[in-house]
Amino acid sequence: NKGEVKGYSIKYGNIVDSSNEVIDEVLVSFFIAPKSYTGEDMIEFQCHGGAKVARSVLDLLLAQPECRLAEPGEFTFRAFVNGKMDLVQSEAVAELIESDNEMAMKIASRQLDGLLSRLFKDLREKLIFCLSECESRLDFPEENLDWDEELPEKIAGAVQQVRKLLDSAGRGEILRNGVKTVIAGKPNAGKSSLLNFLLGYERAIVTDIAGTTRDSLEESVVIRDIPVRLIDTAGLRENAGEIEKIGIERSYKYLDEAQVVFWMLDASAGDAADLLEYKSVHNKVIAVWNKCDLLEKNAVLPELPVKTVKISVLHGDGLEELCDAFEEAVWGMDERGNEAEFAVNARHATLLKEVEGLLGEAIINCMGHEFELAAVQLQLAVRNLGFITGETADVDILGEIFSRFCIGK
Ligand code: GDP
Repeated sequence: NKGEVKGYSIKYGNIVDSSNEVIDEVLVSFFIAPKSYTGEDMIEFQCHGGAKVARSVLDLLLAQPECRLAEPGEFTFRAFVNGKMDLVQSEAVAELIESDNEMAMKIASRQLDGLLSRLFKDLREKLIFCLSECESRLDFPEENLDWDEELPEKIAGAVQQVRKLLDSAGRGEILRNGVKTVIAGKPNAGKSSLLNFLLGYERAIVTDIAGTTRDSLEESVVIRDIPVRLIDTAGLRENAGEIEKIGIERSYKYLDEAQVVFWMLDASAGDAADLLEYKSVHNKVIAVWNKCDLLEKNAVLPELPVKTVKISVLHGDGLEELCDAFEEAVWGMDERGNEAEFAVNARHATLLKEVEGLLGEAIINCMGHEFELAAVQLQLAVRNLGFITGETADVDILGEIFSRFCIGK
């Protein structure tokens, strides 16, 4: 009976079946609306561990006519509908659960806390202000007394904000999907040795998330807090055994798709012809002279047109420099990913790109005193931001977002 329990309270009791047999001793937590995750009345059963006990309790509950299993994402969907969180925060719940590295977890956690939502909200308010300025010029075309003459500059300021958000999309993509990294090089250069070193570095938690198919040749590791999808080209070679051509085509495909390539070179042979031949991928290659322990003291290696590190996997030399080079290749020189506070996802980025285009046109129209057109563009931009935060609901978007959740959240 609802009147008998207080919110945020826990009661102890037995779960019994239809013949009054005790299935388990449980603790039941009560949350009374609106102070719960979903904003509705909620109870949570805490039973003993082990699959069998939990299953029996669940089966007993599901046998009740008014009970059913939650749909994937249903709890968060209800929280969204009841105004407990916006769409950006709802997405953060899924991202927090899926996160497999510290940085992704921190960013998702800040997003859940509302940091990214506030940035979108701020932007939206700015645009609504610009829109009202535009409309006032339409309503009172002759009385240009209180008009803000800086309107195009104001919109340009909003464009800067949009760009800053868009700049974080690459970081988001990396944190969510990992950096596709290939270890290439001739047989015997030390590819497997490097792979084994990196696998021992920090093994990533491999999550089985619907929609993110991982390649069977792929290993997941975390290097310097960056999730990495490492393509094992030794595996490629094995696969190439039977149908050589397919194997080679796959190698090309992996090199093309890679975001970073460790190109292993045998320093004792001093030959980098294979790397030089693959000009098309030089922009993402880190040349790795391996087996430097075999070099004479003053030996000089050929200069290469790409970032180069010298290591000896066997002796563990130069591996920190290798990780430095990798980190730099991923985040670039100026933007250190680990200082990042937020990262928009692909959905946000698509909508933001449209906003950027619309605002660009609005600026031109404002400058040409075409305020009617500018107002339409600003309205569309505001609407797009509404799609991001969920203020403007779209059933298809909602279905797509919440179906990606795991059951029970
Ligand atoms: P892969 O064919 O490119 O995968 O090369 P491997 O990792 O299997 O290494 C080939 C051989 O080189 C093995 O015998 C390794 O022990 C040896 N090797 C790998 N790294 C080093 C190194 O840094 N120094 C020396 N001296 N030998 C190495």
